[in-house]
Amino acid sequence: MPYAVGKHAIALCDRCGFQVPYLSLKEEWNGNRVCKECYEPKHPQLEPKGKRGDAEALRHARPAPDEDPVSAADAAAYQAYLDSRQ
Ligand SMILES: [Zn+2]
Repeated sequence: MPYAVGKHAIALCDRCGFQVPYLSLKEEWNGNRVCKECYEPKHPQLEPKGKRGDAEALRHARPAPDEDPVSAADAAAYQAYLDSRQ
């Protein structure tokens, strides 16, 4: 279906409600058709860029060579746990 151009048509601004020529309306990012005085471009903060967290952990972390991976206290506690189950 063909649409009329609207060369002589009058429209209402979606923001201020004033009558303006139909062809002077501009469409905003949210779909509102507003007059040129009311037109505001989309603010960049409405589409923030993705932020990644600070890198803290190492990918291939290993304990120091002289460090015992299991402390004596942990080993004693684990042994006590095993003894209590028997
Ligand atoms: Zn307006």
